[in-house]
Amino acid sequence: MEKGNQIYEGKAKKVYATQDPELLIVSYKDDATAFNGQKRGAIEGKGSINNRLSNALMRYLENNGIPTHFVEELNDRDTLVKRVRIVPLEVVTRNIAAGSFAKNYGIAEGLVFSEPTIEFSYKNDALGDPLLNEYHILALHLASREEIDEIKRLAFRINELLKAFWLTCGVTLVDFKLEFGRLSDGTVILADEISPDTCRLWDSATGKKLDKDRFRWDLGGVEDAYKEIMSRVSQKLEVGR
Ligand code: UDP
Repeated sequence: MEKGNQIYEGKAKKVYATQDPELLIVSYKDDATAFNGQKRGAIEGKGSINNRLSNALMRYLENNGIPTHFVEELNDRDTLVKRVRIVPLEVVTRNIAAGSFAKNYGIAEGLVFSEPTIEFSYKNDALGDPLLNEYHILALHLASREEIDEIKRLAFRINELLKAFWLTCGVTLVDFKLEFGRLSDGTVILADEISPDTCRLWDSATGKKLDKDRFRWDLGGVEDAYKEIMSRVSQKLEVGR
């Protein structure tokens, strides 16, 4: 499958059409942004790591009954995916307080929840991705009641599967952001990516942050953290080279 016209460029990925109207090629960049695009930079090797890592995790989820957009890894940076219409929601599932949750509710990072939480934001950079409750989602016609229920069911199931997987890598899954899309028949499937850009991952033994927080907060060792995550995953799952 060859790249056709570029149809979209986001902060971390480009998207190309293909000869097949139902398939797209996603190309991962090394560019990194944080705080709604206010902080910009690059993380050397990130595009390749996130591409291969996200694909390995999507294959793992598919093998466990989760429908995803993943079709085929084409090379280091490029992956063939199913074309979806993205549901304009950022779906964040949390196991431990961190980031905006700790800040908004005035608690220390690290509080372990007895039950995972889920929250939705409106995927809209101009508005700064504001939080939404389910009534807001319905009022704005962003998703139907059935779609919201399906997205919650999938997100909690994905959380259980990913938490268990990361544990085998000595990594604690703190929180993560998912995006879902609709196939042409309306089926909701997992899209976008799962990577250290979109998850908080802490070393289970030391608590060391192994994710994009190292970039957000200038903690140093950003590239090494992404490499460390990649190396731990590749000992457990088949990862493309
Ligand atoms: N996240 C993301 N994209 C965003 C916002 C958040 O991938 O635009 C991820 C982030 O990496 C973290 C989780 O979602 O794993 C929860 O992020 P949070 O709401 O705490 O926001 P942040 O602290 O990143 O502003």
